[in-house]
Amino acid sequence: MKIWLDGALRDSETARVSVFDHGLTVGDGIFETVKAVDGRPFALTRHLDRLTRSARGLGLPDPDLDEVRRACAAVLEANPVPLGRLRLTYTGGHGPLGSDRGDQGPTLVVALGGTARRPDTTAVVTVPWTRNERGALTGLKTTSYAENVVALARAHEHGATEALFANTVGQLCEGTGSNVFVVLDGEIHTPPLASGCLAGITRALVAEWTGAKETDLPLDVLREADEIFLTSTLRDVQAVHRVDDRELSATPGPVTAKAMRIFDERSAADIDP
Ligand code: PLP
Repeated sequence: MKIWLDGALRDSETARVSVFDHGLTVGDGIFETVKAVDGRPFALTRHLDRLTRSARGLGLPDPDLDEVRRACAAVLEANPVPLGRLRLTYTGGHGPLGSDRGDQGPTLVVALGGTARRPDTTAVVTVPWTRNERGALTGLKTTSYAENVVALARAHEHGATEALFANTVGQLCEGTGSNVFVVLDGEIHTPPLASGCLAGITRALVAEWTGAKETDLPLDVLREADEIFLTSTLRDVQAVHRVDDRELSATPGPVTAKAMRIFDERSAADIDP
């Protein structure tokens, strides 16, 4: 596969990043996952805005968005697939061990993966660990994903594909790599950004297109919600058929099925290619 690394397309087998890259040594990095259909990136400007916000939050230099756009186009052209997800990784770059920052400029990698279409439904578990709604990294899409890896392993132990977190005050927050929506009395609700969740691009579009409300929700809402669904670049809109030991009947339920349809139809139109 051809990837983009520091200014040029390279072969993924031979492309190399320094072993002293701060993305590796201290997790000083950010990323984006961007859906691409027939070689066209979806909602790229929204992703690049979030990449810049994440960079500023971490104190990294602003990414050169012209280069990022060129890199995305080059990787898609070199690896033609009907459906894929671009993975943009941007780190503090090479620097001596123990230094605060890389000293030779940031590292940019753009690769392509994620060619599978999501299953329509999935099982999820809740985990006992909390998301910090007031942390230094809250709302930033950083490569420091170890907490999510641990939670996801818990999900896999229980035959689920996603783990849902509450925040430190017991409110429903988000999944390891997805946002969460619940249906109560026919209305769609999703936790507000103040819950500590990531400002998901899919979340924003689904909320806009379905009129979902931002609502503080206790974690326990998952026991009584009529329907539950997840959103993310990898999952699009995905119905939840089991949460912990609770089976939800007839998934996707009618409201979720409608949200899936609306998302599929509206996202098929070019959103800022
Ligand atoms: N929440 C977290 C923690 C994520 O990592 C992601 C995506 O990777 C999302 C939510 C969903 O965001 P998006 O819809 O932009 O993919």
